[in-house]
Amino acid sequence: MNTLADIKSMTLSQLTDLIVQNGYPKFRAKQIHDWLVKGVTNFDEMTNIPRNLREFLRASCYISVANIAKKLISRYDRTVKYLFSFNDGECVESVVMRYRHGYSICISTQVGCKMGCTFCATGKSGFSRSLTPSEMLNQIESAQSDLGIRISNVVLMGMGEPLDNFDNTVNFFKLVSSDDGLNIGMRHITLSTCGIVPKIYELADLHLGITLSVSLHAPNDEIRQKTMPIARKYSMEELLQACRDYFKITGRRVTFEYSMIHGVNDSDDNARELAQKLSGMCCHVNLIPVNTVQGTGYIRSNIERQQAFVRILSEKNIAATVRRTLGSDINASCGQLKRNHLEEGGK
Ligand code: SAH
Ligand code: SF4
Repeated sequence: MNTLADIKSMTLSQLTDLIVQNGYPKFRAKQIHDWLVKGVTNFDEMTNIPRNLREFLRASCYISVANIAKKLISRYDRTVKYLFSFNDGECVESVVMRYRHGYSICISTQVGCKMGCTFCATGKSGFSRSLTPSEMLNQIESAQSDLGIRISNVVLMGMGEPLDNFDNTVNFFKLVSSDDGLNIGMRHITLSTCGIVPKIYELADLHLGITLSVSLHAPNDEIRQKTMPIARKYSMEELLQACRDYFKITGRRVTFEYSMIHGVNDSDDNARELAQKLSGMCCHVNLIPVNTVQGTGYIRSNIERQQAFVRILSEKNIAATVRRTLGSDINASCGQLKRNHLEEGGK
């Protein structure tokens, strides 16, 4: 399969080049593309495509899939969590959440993750491979067709570090926002990163219009280095400067994620130090009581700590909210379903 081209990762213009260069008429590319957008998984289903072209496609390309390996539905809020399996049997998680303004999906960008954050279930499971653009797209398509809905918002907050899979992620943005494809606008896409500083600049320079979310989780380097190995490579000051520059370059407000861990990063002093570091920035802080992951020993901060943190940040004019936890009965935070699957002997 490796020698075959991933046809669903091609843009319409790349597909057109392939078709024309091999002597087929240009209009066939659009027909093939339409079938792919409809979700066909076999070239023989492309009934208006002549047999010889179908044979050419079969000999040179493959159609990537995201099959539902597991599905869990929250009894509390109808959040749906999927474990999808790809052509090679590798699996990732996605979560569909329903908000007042529509449906949002949290997708994965890699099978596992190299970054090794100590609180994260994905980080604990090691790294297998990066996802192709079509595999990111397929998570959305499969969820939409399974649920019979149209998803309006996409967040790259599932398994993996999107900026460690930069080119595929950017190509995915092009595919998903294309009006020949799912047509989800860049403004409805959020990328979350643990803070790979040079890649933040590369992303800013592309002027895509997506929202950048940075996983901070600490008010200083000392605490950050305890939970996030990436903090040993890039200091918090470098990271915050990249975020200021991202805003300057793109005009888009940066969001910070801050998982509150009891006794690690949730004191009043921690809040004050964070407020001071973020002062003057156009940003928003999402506070998330850390999800308990087996084997980490971390405990989530209690409600009083959460409220105290919000109050201290707000007093210093830093916009902060405690993120509503959806799907708490189905382990909706990514990485955990997959971990159970691994423990049951899956891939
Ligand atoms: N690798 C990227 C995106 C995927 S992780 C990143 O780290 O930003 C998505 C978010 O979930 C990140 O903010 C991450 O820090 C957070 N996260 C991971 N494990 C968590 C846990 N156990 N509890 C709460 N948030 C967690
Ligand atoms: Fe990777 Fe993000 Fe998990 Fe860290 S928090 S290990 S970067 S997925």
